[in-house]
Amino acid sequence: MGLEEKIPSGFLLSTVEALAGWGRKNSVWPATFGLACCAMELMTAGSPTYDLARFGMERASATPRQADLMIVAGRLSQKMAPVLRQIYDQMAEPKWVIAMGVCASSGGMFNNYAIVQGVDHVVPVDIYLPGCPPRPEMLMDAIVKLHDKIQNTKFGAHRAKQIDELEKRALRSLPLIHQGAS
Ligand code: SF4
Repeated sequence: MGLEEKIPSGFLLSTVEALAGWGRKNSVWPATFGLACCAMELMTAGSPTYDLARFGMERASATPRQADLMIVAGRLSQKMAPVLRQIYDQMAEPKWVIAMGVCASSGGMFNNYAIVQGVDHVVPVDIYLPGCPPRPEMLMDAIVKLHDKIQNTKFGAHRAKQIDELEKRALRSLPLIHQGAS
């Protein structure tokens, strides 16, 4: 890997934050959660062909308390929205959200009263993944981008501030969505 040339004296210096970020990004546990057709692609990503285990993600948690990643795979109905929020609230901190597919990201073709027009109105979204449905390769690309974000997230109040900004951004876009729907 060329590490010997980079650290000829045998010393490797880092910060606790960088080390924790490295550990966190390589052990993300997704919540078992699928809403619609995108969930098929999500399940395929865990198959031997794509092998999510390479990213330390082979353990999909059946309980939100042992999960720190929510992949919202599919359209979210208004009726399901409180359930999704409850699962998110029960997940371990720090936690992350990927909106998988155009329906989860913006309501997609379901521009109607029954479907939430973007899950960011319910939970703070870290990564928006386009496509209908996105292929497993695209999901893996989104996961790698999330890894970068996790690696660079600082400790303490920084993540809370990041979530605050994500939620404010979703609230700012609400009037636009309502205008578009009227
Ligand atoms: S983006 Fe396409 S594949 Fe995914 S839930 Fe919507 S309609 Fe289904």
